[in-house]
Amino acid sequence: REPRLVIARAAQIGRDYVLVSVRDISEQERLQQMRQDFIQNTSHELKTPVGAIALLAEALEVAADDPDQVRRFSERMSAEADRLGQLTGRIMNLSRLQAADELIDIGPVAVDEVVQGAIEANAVTAKAALVEVRSGGDKGLYVHGDSRVLVEAVSNLISNAVAYSPEGSHVGVGVRSAEGAVEIAVTDQGIGIADGDQRRVFERFFRADQARSRRTGGTGLGLSIVKHAIQRHGGEVRLWSREGQGSTFTIRLPQKNAPDGATFGGKRPK
Ligand code: ADP
Repeated sequence: REPRLVIARAAQIGRDYVLVSVRDISEQERLQQMRQDFIQNTSHELKTPVGAIALLAEALEVAADDPDQVRRFSERMSAEADRLGQLTGRIMNLSRLQAADELIDIGPVAVDEVVQGAIEANAVTAKAALVEVRSGGDKGLYVHGDSRVLVEAVSNLISNAVAYSPEGSHVGVGVRSAEGAVEIAVTDQGIGIADGDQRRVFERFFRADQARSRRTGGTGLGLSIVKHAIQRHGGEVRLWSREGQGSTFTIRLPQKNAPDGATFGGKRPK
């Protein structure tokens, strides 16, 4: 990044000298640009369901005498309203996570509980999609952070894994401790992500082409929420994927010791 220097202060010192202090405002400008892009993308994305609801309302009026049509239009209207609700919820989450001054409600977090919570949050959709979600690996690990935010991050990964997988396939959630870090890996046997898209999937509103046709309800915000949530916890997210074979998203977080008095399965963890 090129520095952008502006004069912050200038003072004459004696007769022959001027003291000038300069400040690099490139970071400020970059954040400003990010905020502007976010607002622009967001309003663009919100227009789609709002426009659809307006059209469906008109169609409903025209079709008032035909009960079948009325039912069809009102079903689609409520689907669009759901989508709008999901979209605004996610936008709020993302902007909260991005706000530098957001204080996360932090403390020791049991990784098993995060994984369980995330699997439970997806139980209904996984069942409907005929995809089985299993978990395994190291038990009794702890990280430091906001459990609600962490559950949402893992839940978003599971929700994607289910959405982009064929019926009858498995999604695995593996936990392990590695070199002072905790890794939570979500693996699917789904459609995979093309090499060229792998870096872009974490961008806001990015959706790979083949995914657009598969998952109609997507927002393109799930993975950027995951990325920001994990970064706020001092961690990182890695992706391995092969088209047609599947994907593994791995969250890495600094491992913490179990809090005093914590028990796991009736025993104190090591
Ligand atoms: P979306 O709401 O579209 O799923 P995300 O931000 O969660 O938004 O994901 C962005 C894009 O990344 C998706 O549209 C899809 O193209 C791709 N993607 C994410 N997870 C997977 C996965 N497990 N398998 C295949 N493609 C995925």
